[in-house]
Amino acid sequence: MLNWEESISKLLKDATHTYPLYNPHTREKITDIPECSNEQMEKAISIAKDAFQNMKTLTSNERANILENAYTLIEENKKLFAETITLEAGKPIKYSRGEVERTIQTLKFAAIEARKLEGESIRLDAAPGGDGRDAYTIFQPIGIVGAITPFNFPLNLVAHKVGPALAVGNSIIVKPAEKTPLSSFLLMEVFEKAGLPKGAFQVITGDGPRLGNVLCHHPDIAKISFTGSPSVGKIIKSQVGLKKVTLELGNNSALYIDESMKEKLDEIAEKAVVGAFSYNGQVCISTQRIYVHEKLFHEFITAFKERTERLIYGNPMDETTDISAIIDEKAQTRILQWIKEAQQEGANLITGGEKIEHGIKPTILTNVASDSKLSCQEVFGPVVIVNPVPSAEEALTEMNASEYGLNAGVFTYHLPQAFRFAHELEVGQVLINDLPTLRFDHMPYGGIKSSGYGYEGIKYAMQEMVHRKLISMNYSF
Ligand code: NAD
Repeated sequence: MLNWEESISKLLKDATHTYPLYNPHTREKITDIPECSNEQMEKAISIAKDAFQNMKTLTSNERANILENAYTLIEENKKLFAETITLEAGKPIKYSRGEVERTIQTLKFAAIEARKLEGESIRLDAAPGGDGRDAYTIFQPIGIVGAITPFNFPLNLVAHKVGPALAVGNSIIVKPAEKTPLSSFLLMEVFEKAGLPKGAFQVITGDGPRLGNVLCHHPDIAKISFTGSPSVGKIIKSQVGLKKVTLELGNNSALYIDESMKEKLDEIAEKAVVGAFSYNGQVCISTQRIYVHEKLFHEFITAFKERTERLIYGNPMDETTDISAIIDEKAQTRILQWIKEAQQEGANLITGGEKIEHGIKPTILTNVASDSKLSCQEVFGPVVIVNPVPSAEEALTEMNASEYGLNAGVFTYHLPQAFRFAHELEVGQVLINDLPTLRFDHMPYGGIKSSGYGYEGIKYAMQEMVHRKLISMNYSF
């Protein structure tokens, strides 16, 4: 039986104190979470170091089997996992279920890739004097991965680090977001039951800056894998020294709808409602900026507004709930303030713009200034700006006028235009005829500019969690 309370009580033995964990919807206390000490983190690192000695002796088949056992156990406990995400993150249950399904996918891909990660044969005789040798590369695990994760996908984004780390034979310590540690406890328990060597995956809870500092500076941590805000990403990058590091950071995702989409506007509006407002826009690739060719602007905004106003706010455990509480009061206040500021700068409010209990009504604004916070920073809330543009040229300029570069989407039936956007958008992933709010768990996924450094997407994350070793055999000696 999986039970996060058991994991908590184990950590409590050594923790200095606890902090209260609140349900974002009811704002009632769920439980007390251990505020782990620095010494506790150091002890976990020492345990992970010993566990690595076991991990690196496992065959790829054995590692894949453990990953398969783990996702099978999640499949058997889907309800518990989904309800735990909803309890701690306030995520509407239908989206929590989606996250659980994606986590299963993530670990399935990790099991597949565990058996597949292969080096290559290198022709040394292509260089003068290199003949008489056979050379090839192998991949070796690096040791301990330190993972620091955000609140918004408390299960799948942990799995995106745990799956690849274990698939290549590393051990891993997860420092989950303070607000959502319970899902990671359940994931750890699943791996304990799946046959993972003891100590190869541990969860240490508590303050991000303090425990992150220990992870980033500890000589036995080989790599930091971080997902979270750009400001914390910058701190981490400045602390890791020569360690490997992957940073999956924020975005203010943009979408362009060109004039060839007249017949498709209703369908796009339907999709855009999900892209902009699922989990209250608390998604790193939430659709935040929509640029519509001016010929279609009026029709689009009418369709989009109508569908947005149908969204239901409520208890996230209810099947019918689309919109729920924002993660905390501080975030709710900040988002409302940014909406107010944009209006003061001349933006028109189309719908929403006010709080509803602990949430915010889905909000659409138009004519938002390019230098307004809603345009150039990451809102991370249920707010979308929709601006008319006279041409594709103008759309490209607006979309690229961002310090971020994770995902961008374009709806167009003009083939040359699609290719032009694909090449000229300054982002890691371009989605043609899809929203920017699209990710499949095995695709390479990473940001440029302030959106990140390095890649995730199982196979690509695995490549960043290994050493590539070249072996040359001089058979003519
Ligand atoms: P956050 O940056 O506030 O916290 C993320 C993690 O970092 C938490 O575990 C926190 O405890 C820890 N942390 C905080 N300060 C730290 C420090 N100084 N040193 C080390 N660790 C520290 O982010 P959040 O509010 O939990 O999540 C939202 C952010 O995450 C958004 O910016 C979002 O775009 C981003 N995100 C990115 C992706 C992606 O794949 N690119 C996915 C999801 C979320």
